[in-house]
Amino acid sequence: MFTRPFQFERADQLADACELLRRHGEGAKVIAGGQSLMPLVNLGLVQPEVVIDISRADAGRHVTLVDGYLAVGALMTHARLAADRLAAEAQPLLGAAARKIGNARVRGRGTLGGSLAHSDPAAELPLVLVALGATYEITDGRRSREAKAEEFHLGFLTPQLADDELVVAVRVPRLGPGWGWSFQEVSRRDGDFALAAAAVLVRIAGGVIVESRVAVGGVSDRPLRLADAEIALTGATVSQIGDRIGPIQGIRPVSDTGASAGYRAHLCRVLVTRALAEAGSRSEEAA
Ligand code: FAD
Repeated sequence: MFTRPFQFERADQLADACELLRRHGEGAKVIAGGQSLMPLVNLGLVQPEVVIDISRADAGRHVTLVDGYLAVGALMTHARLAADRLAAEAQPLLGAAARKIGNARVRGRGTLGGSLAHSDPAAELPLVLVALGATYEITDGRRSREAKAEEFHLGFLTPQLADDELVVAVRVPRLGPGWGWSFQEVSRRDGDFALAAAAVLVRIAGGVIVESRVAVGGVSDRPLRLADAEIALTGATVSQIGDRIGPIQGIRPVSDTGASAGYRAHLCRVLVTRALAEAGSRSEEAA
């Protein structure tokens, strides 16, 4: 496809990018790593009149741990997040998911903020952030606001973002004592988007699950938190997980060239069960 010519702007400050988005209106798009926007532009599915480059903006590349919360900047690439020691120590689920994204080229350029704003329902980072109960920091250059991950991803490629807003950072709680975690996915080839994926955390005390967080991706139009499964798991031993999980409720898998809806639903249950078993054994080791 030939892409329609567009005006190119560069913003060194995120606030400037928001101002340019306001000035140019809905024909303007920001570009960070370009790993989602450019394929859509090349396919002619998105035809921006103005592209605003934020890849060199002065903010958004930090990883900090303050008051028990890990904050990660939106311009953090997947490769740097996957390799970051503080993130690995404070919340290992993030790096485990980032390592599953695409290939080395995509991970080297793709950013956390771009993945969240793109809001692909099979994307790993939105799924993990929903599982972790993350808070997103969003700005329009004049005011900041916060959004819970579960409320931000509204549907297929539909983030809760105004035309002049940018994701600045995300904040997740540090992995608490006695918690175990696991990220599981199946994709047709290594680096493809997941056919289904599960991100789980459990805390085991006295041999039974006392707390859990279970989320799945690739089986609905957004990442889904499985509250019913979390309730069913309370009080279960690791060996009882399979019986307690049952058929996964609330998912709406679709059939496409990748897999049938039935296969995705089956995958979802297998991956959740497998992830819970791995997280359970990590929790028992961490106790
Ligand atoms: P861009 O492409 O620059 O932008 C994406 C969208 O977000 C655009 O609409 C842009 O305007 C907007 N945007 C960018 N930054 C911000 C911000 N800070 N605030 C608000 N809006 C913003 N993704 C996966 O999750 N898993 C995969 O397995 C996977 N495999 C891939 C394989 C290939 C070959 C390719 C090309 C891509 C793959 N992707 C995958 C998609 C891609 O990695 C992510 O969606 C990407 O990380 C998006 O980040 P980006 O910085 O490149 O975003």
